[in-house]
Amino acid sequence: MSTFGATPGGGVERQAASVADGENRAWFTAWLVENDFEVKVDAIGNIFGLIETVPGAPYVVVGSHLDSQPLAGRFDGAYGVLAAAHAVRAVAAGDAPARFNLAVVDWFNEEGSRFKPSMMGSAVLTGTLPVAKALATTDPAGTTVSEALDAIDGRGNFAGLDVAAYLEIHVEQGRELEDTGTTIGLVSTTWTAHKLEVVVTGEQSHTGAARMVDRRDALYGAAELIVAVRRLIDGFEPEQLHTAVSEMYLDPNSPVAIAREVRLLVDVRSPERALLETAVAQLRERMTEIEAVAKVEIEVRGLVEWSSGPFLEEGILLAAAEAERLGYTYRRSATVAGHDATNMKEVVPTVMLFVPSVDGISHNEREFTSDDDMVAGLDVLTAVVARVASGALSATDGDAIAMSVGDR
Ligand SMILES: [Zn+2]
Repeated sequence: MSTFGATPGGGVERQAASVADGENRAWFTAWLVENDFEVKVDAIGNIFGLIETVPGAPYVVVGSHLDSQPLAGRFDGAYGVLAAAHAVRAVAAGDAPARFNLAVVDWFNEEGSRFKPSMMGSAVLTGTLPVAKALATTDPAGTTVSEALDAIDGRGNFAGLDVAAYLEIHVEQGRELEDTGTTIGLVSTTWTAHKLEVVVTGEQSHTGAARMVDRRDALYGAAELIVAVRRLIDGFEPEQLHTAVSEMYLDPNSPVAIAREVRLLVDVRSPERALLETAVAQLRERMTEIEAVAKVEIEVRGLVEWSSGPFLEEGILLAAAEAERLGYTYRRSATVAGHDATNMKEVVPTVMLFVPSVDGISHNEREFTSDDDMVAGLDVLTAVVARVASGALSATDGDAIAMSVGDR
């Protein structure tokens, strides 16, 4: 997989529905077919590999994502999809009594770097994002999701499936596991995140000739905002707030013109929802002050959020028991990054596992996880999939949830 979109620094660049993403998806699809999975693709480009062993029963779905950030690491997402495929294949070939069918999934556009929001494929399937809205989303060049998917032959007509439970394994993207000498992270909670699309509006004028007192410089306002976002953390305890401005577009971006408009993406996260809301309220106050200082207008035009919340306790205990039985060290982890499991856990019983990231480096070509840790993760994932597929999570005793891409 790491050969598709390989970068000189040893990473990959496979943004959603890019040529490299398409090549990787094609390779993965061929692998699924060779290994007797039934391959289905839905309208938002999620790829499912199904193994039906209990006709008519709901599915235990295991997966992650194959897309990447620009100039990213080889492990984020791709490890989870590959581990899911091997776990599902092993469980299906085993002789454990099965109560549910098995599926592996590559969720479309988890990263959200080319098309916002992130976790798009799972958001559509869980019903929080209408498929038509997702397909009409454009990248910075104006290409829509539907055009980009069509260019890689990435859309299908699979309507959906009944899901009994969801499992995902991922590299930690932090360094708690490494710092504590632990092999397996049992994801027990997720941080709250707010992503604000902010537009700073000034007025275009001449960089030399316009009088300083007359200038309404959108880039100056944006610069003040960037500093305010970084300084927001000063009023809070360490590691209670993470903030960044991650994206910026500037018009007209000419050497001889004062910027008339800057569009920014502000990312604010906290383990505590109330604390995050306090921080965002403070940021909005700062925006008002910056409007006066820089003589600009600052408008929040879009907000994508997800809430902190626990993962299913029974799933954590089940994964802990399997890690213990297999002789791996384990501990509870919080995920600061969003994952498709973040969406899925709102709808179905969900178990998420981490393996260590060396130095916690992620969204970077130097991202690394050792073979030993990846194989350990696969061992535990396989064991947990087997248990869940045989009905070990009593939370799956209720009706499975029908998930489809239509009518929402
Ligand atoms: Zn990921």
